[in-house]
Amino acid sequence: MTGNHTQIWLKCLEVIKDNTSAQSYNTWFKPIVPVSFVNNVLTIQVPSHFFYDWLESHYIDLLRKTIKKVIGTEGKLEYRIVMDSAGNANSSIMTQPSHHQYYKRNAIGAPSPEKMSEGPINPFVIPGLKKLEIDSQLNDSYTFENFVEGDCNRLAREASLAVTENPGGTAFNPLLIYSGTGLGKTHLCHAIGLRIKEKFPEKTVLYVQSEQFINQFVNASKNQNLNDFVHFYQMIDVLIIDDIQFLAKKTKTQETFFHIFNFLHQNHKQLVLTSDKFPVDLEDMMPRLLSRFKWGLSADIQKPDTATRVAILKNKLYNNGIVLSEDIIEYLAASMRTNIRELEGVLISIVAQSSLNKKEITKELAQQIIDRFVKSSAKNVSVEYITNIVCDYFGIGIDQLSLNSRKQQIVQSRQIAMYFSKKYSNVSLAIIGKQCGNKDHSTVHHACKTISDRIETDKQFKAMMEDIEKRILI
Ligand code: ADP
Ligand code: MG
Repeated sequence: MTGNHTQIWLKCLEVIKDNTSAQSYNTWFKPIVPVSFVNNVLTIQVPSHFFYDWLESHYIDLLRKTIKKVIGTEGKLEYRIVMDSAGNANSSIMTQPSHHQYYKRNAIGAPSPEKMSEGPINPFVIPGLKKLEIDSQLNDSYTFENFVEGDCNRLAREASLAVTENPGGTAFNPLLIYSGTGLGKTHLCHAIGLRIKEKFPEKTVLYVQSEQFINQFVNASKNQNLNDFVHFYQMIDVLIIDDIQFLAKKTKTQETFFHIFNFLHQNHKQLVLTSDKFPVDLEDMMPRLLSRFKWGLSADIQKPDTATRVAILKNKLYNNGIVLSEDIIEYLAASMRTNIRELEGVLISIVAQSSLNKKEITKELAQQIIDRFVKSSAKNVSVEYITNIVCDYFGIGIDQLSLNSRKQQIVQSRQIAMYFSKKYSNVSLAIIGKQCGNKDHSTVHHACKTISDRIETDKQFKAMMEDIEKRILI
């Protein structure tokens, strides 16, 4: 198929728009320029290599699905990258195929059509090769070198390193890494896999997400080649399964995994697992499987402290060749406390916005993006939570809000609590009024207007409001 690239890309954009947030859409998809569509290959132009990397690592699934939907299964994506480092007028252009498409075509469970036609006996193995050659599904950018060590992750990192020294031969088998989301579990998994492949090229390493494992299991059961599925996994030397909490309730998959686990463990093969929960809190998991998880080492990753957050930011900046002033780095580290993925997301947005709009990275720009980012990911906050923060900020008791006092501080605290409740909670003005000092909805309406007017006209007040807002949102 060959045709009008602009129209094809517009159709793609429609699909993308429906499947991503407005912020991601504006930051990452709007700036893309379609270049050509020849022989089913859609070429799109992106503003920098960095942009390309980001699309490939964060939106490849969406892009793949979109291309399939708009062009069909034969569709391929190619990037044209404008090599334009900030301020460099001499931009040049290079073309790069979608990296992941290549991998996906060769991924386990998805042998390429040419190879299928040779009649593979085991559908999970790429045929025609003597040794078990598989795509390990490792992401080259998640290495130990760029994994910043801190108190929060020392145990998990050290244990991971120990495993790479002697896979299957340490007491850390299985190695189970657990933590909240966005704190580095997946990064460590890839780092382990990459290091082992480097040190022991003869070992077969495989990284799978548990959803992928489950899907493969379901397909294998449907196609009656469960034996092939099990044999395939039994041939792996280092099996890394990410996010095993998704195995919960999947009794049949757990049964099969139990057998694979036992086989690998008995044969001194290494297992690395991650979970977003402490092993005992994993619900709906077969007790005998849970007990296996405890055979080795369970290492947790905590939220990073400020110094680690600063170090992580510096590391990302250095690796991407970006320079940012100390005070902005510190500001970012202070604003985004709980999740490294979000911290990174904000950093990338800032850099992208500044390079796309040719704006200098200032603290204001950083602040705008953080605010937008935090708001868009903010949960629905309760009125009670907001009043608590506001009262705490002004050093008054919650019960004082309902006093019929004309004291400036109390009136103001109440109005501010109402203003933020309207902005961030999903409840009616009447309920907000009731919970903020037993007032009616017109008082809330009036309060919100008074506060917005003052934000517009009083700089100092505005700064104070931003300060309170941050406390509410972080
Ligand atoms: P999880 O799997 O726990 O949800 P990820 O491993 O996906 O988290 O980490 C989220 C992002 O944060 C990734 O881009 C990862 O590279 C980055 N990250 C997490 N921990 C660190 C660290 N200690 N040093 C550098 N980057 C990190
Ligand atoms: Mg993960």
